[in-house]
Amino acid sequence: KTTKREQGELARRSDAMDKNDTSGLRRLSRRAYLQRRKEKKVEEMRDEIVDHEFLFPGVQLTAAEERDMRHKKQVYGLVHDRDDYYRMPDAYDAAANVDQEKRFSVARRRYEEPAEAARDGKTANALSEQEAWEEQQIRKSRLQFGSMDRGRRGDEYELLFDDGVEFVRSTVMAGTAPADDDDTAAAAAADEYHAEAMDAKATLQDERKTLPVYKLKDDLLKAIDEHKVLIVVGETGSGKTTQIPQYLHEVGYTAGGRKKVACTQPRRVAAMSVAARVAEEMGVKLGHEVGYSIRFEDCTSEKTVIKYMTDGMLLREFLGEPDLGSYSVVVVDEAHERTLATDILFGLVKDIARLRPDMKLLISSATLNADKFSDFFDAAPVFRIPGRRFEVGIHYTVAPEADYIDAAVVTVLQLHVTEPPGGGDILLFLTGQEEIETVEEILRHRLRVLGGKVAELVICPIYANLPAELQAKIFEPAPAGARKVVLATNIAETSLTIDGIKYVVDPGFCKVKSYNPRTGMESLLVAPVSRASAEQRAGRSGRTGPGECFRLYTEYNFVSDLDDDAVPEIQRSNLASVVLALKALGINDLVGFDFMDPPPAESLLRALEELFALGALNSRGELTKTGRRMAEFPLDPMLSKAIVASERYGCSEEVITIAAMLSAGNAVFYRPRDKRVHADAARRAFHAGNAGDHVALLNVYNAWAESGYSPQWCRESFVQHRTMRRARDVRDQLGALLERVEIAPCSSAGGGDLDAVRKAVTAGYFRHAARLQRDGSYRAVKSRQTVFVHPSSGVAQAPPRWALYHELVLTTKEYMRQVTELKPEWLVEIAPHYYERKD
Ligand code: ADP
Ligand code: MG
Repeated sequence: KTTKREQGELARRSDAMDKNDTSGLRRLSRRAYLQRRKEKKVEEMRDEIVDHEFLFPGVQLTAAEERDMRHKKQVYGLVHDRDDYYRMPDAYDAAANVDQEKRFSVARRRYEEPAEAARDGKTANALSEQEAWEEQQIRKSRLQFGSMDRGRRGDEYELLFDDGVEFVRSTVMAGTAPADDDDTAAAAAADEYHAEAMDAKATLQDERKTLPVYKLKDDLLKAIDEHKVLIVVGETGSGKTTQIPQYLHEVGYTAGGRKKVACTQPRRVAAMSVAARVAEEMGVKLGHEVGYSIRFEDCTSEKTVIKYMTDGMLLREFLGEPDLGSYSVVVVDEAHERTLATDILFGLVKDIARLRPDMKLLISSATLNADKFSDFFDAAPVFRIPGRRFEVGIHYTVAPEADYIDAAVVTVLQLHVTEPPGGGDILLFLTGQEEIETVEEILRHRLRVLGGKVAELVICPIYANLPAELQAKIFEPAPAGARKVVLATNIAETSLTIDGIKYVVDPGFCKVKSYNPRTGMESLLVAPVSRASAEQRAGRSGRTGPGECFRLYTEYNFVSDLDDDAVPEIQRSNLASVVLALKALGINDLVGFDFMDPPPAESLLRALEELFALGALNSRGELTKTGRRMAEFPLDPMLSKAIVASERYGCSEEVITIAAMLSAGNAVFYRPRDKRVHADAARRAFHAGNAGDHVALLNVYNAWAESGYSPQWCRESFVQHRTMRRARDVRDQLGALLERVEIAPCSSAGGGDLDAVRKAVTAGYFRHAARLQRDGSYRAVKSRQTVFVHPSSGVAQAPPRWALYHELVLTTKEYMRQVTELKPEWLVEIAPHYYERKD
């Protein structure tokens, strides 16, 4: 469809792109540009995926992996020769094209700005004038050439979009609302949602009564009373998580404050947010009667009777209290998510439920397929809470979309301008924080360009690391005349229910952990969701009235490319951490452990090997003293080992600081755009003498501590205060654990011996050694992969011959993050069972 002139320009543009020359490119029409970008993407993605190295660098695939790869190719559309493909962001990022530059520049800018400022909305002008100008030009040209015919109500707005996304309404997901109370319930819910300035407490109590579980309260309590183990199944939003623990408390399961009800959540945000909600409903202060416990953050007290916690935290509680004696009821919530910790919990709680006649066990799940849970828990009865969901119209794209970020943004805007405002909010599912921030930025920019033409759109992000004070925002109704769009990760799939959502936009992707037991590499990959997930996502739109779900893929993709269900995490994770926990609980026979779905034998073996190499297990597979101490720390075994080893090198103070900094998140430094030079200089100062990233983190912390933990110091040093505060909390807790395992606080760096610190780190991470190659890349010593120093590393300028890394991240390449120089003789000294001198 391109004209001759456009073709000429395309060729020129392509040349220029190859030469990285961006001058004189603006004359290209937007349509031609998009066309070109699309072609380039397909081409490059195809190369990437066909290349097995992309997923498992340097590794020959087994037959099973080969099959898996074939399947992936099918999902990503490589089997079809048409435009039938999905985009995989990492693969796509690898392609050095203009769009990638744009995406990165947005993300980079984000990273560079102090998080606080960003949250205060000071980044409103983050997109450059240049870009705004370009956008203006595009608008103008659109006005001149007229809009394409789209047939929807939005015709008049069409010229505001790059490229509309076309949908077909295909099926309708039947509603599950009981016919008789359909209208009244919906009306009540809608009324409540829109009611403003009502007495908050009365509203909350009324709201509680409209939840589906409320009608069944007595039956449910009776069933719990009669059975030891009960499986509870109900549509998301029916009140399982927030109501059941309250009911249990009301009828005395908390024995007047002497026993607790535990409710586990796979995600920390859910644990925090739900606890806050329940505290509000009960009219108590969070942390008193109702509290939560997540890693490094215990918000409970003596008074706490309802305790929300991550599944991983309950797992850790077994270490201190093997029979969970202080709990009268354990609710394993969101069981359908099948996280690693939940799966291990299944085996453990099943066991103690048999031992403790006074304990009740509830397994709660959002999927209707509860038979598997029932079977596992000795044919436990299933209690179903009939849902209340309205019809949801399912729309698919007519053709596959090359770029789901683009498509998602356009779809949200299309919905916003074509559907009447106030009629319902939008929920968009994305894969992670970075993507959410990128989309937020693009949306803000687009809305600015649209200016006063459209109603207000309130953007609410929600993801795991979102500061607690901002999490509540997603539940607040949009002001009159405005619409809310929630940009969420998987967390909004079943863990959190947001009322008032009418439109769901589902690109069909999520981040999944994948693990290759042979290389020991665990990575997060963006992959298509399962059909079960897609259905859950769609269902989120039918809560307060009939909904619409827009899937950014074709119906063909849905039917033939998606898996029925996600693979349980236990089958795609590094198991070292849970194996250590199980060993510490005295469970030696791992193969005989009661798994709902056993992990691959290879993963178990690999975990045992890893723990043996770290000295946590002896050659008979029994826990050593070192292992026992390591198990006390809620950290990756390698990091725990570094801490335990710090005793020997006399530097426990330094190592827990480093561990705290590593656990506090990746955002330590920032670079404001107008002060890059200063920021870089400040950052380099922490790296004096090519100290390595670990020691640099230590330097940052110590300097901050010396300043009296001053926020002012952080600002001057271009360090994120929020991250530092968290590091301080984590460090305090690690300090307490150090005492518990009887390691005295000691410091070597006081005497200037930083090598002692580096050696302690090496004692945990010796398997993460890499050697510089002639071409500037590194070769990981054990797995023989080719890896690179992450550009954010302080050693990137002067790469050492031998390096030790904290972790590998797979983005455009396999990057080592947090790198320190290593002396090869340390490897032989510290891990003689693992390395030998080559003479
Ligand atoms: P389920 O666990 O069955 O999915 P929940 O108990 O999580 O259901 O949700 C019940 C209701 O409580 C929903 O209507 C939801 O909107 C509301 N809710 C849950 N958490 C919050 C919160 N933090 N703020 C406001 N409302 C909430
Ligand atoms: Mg729930």
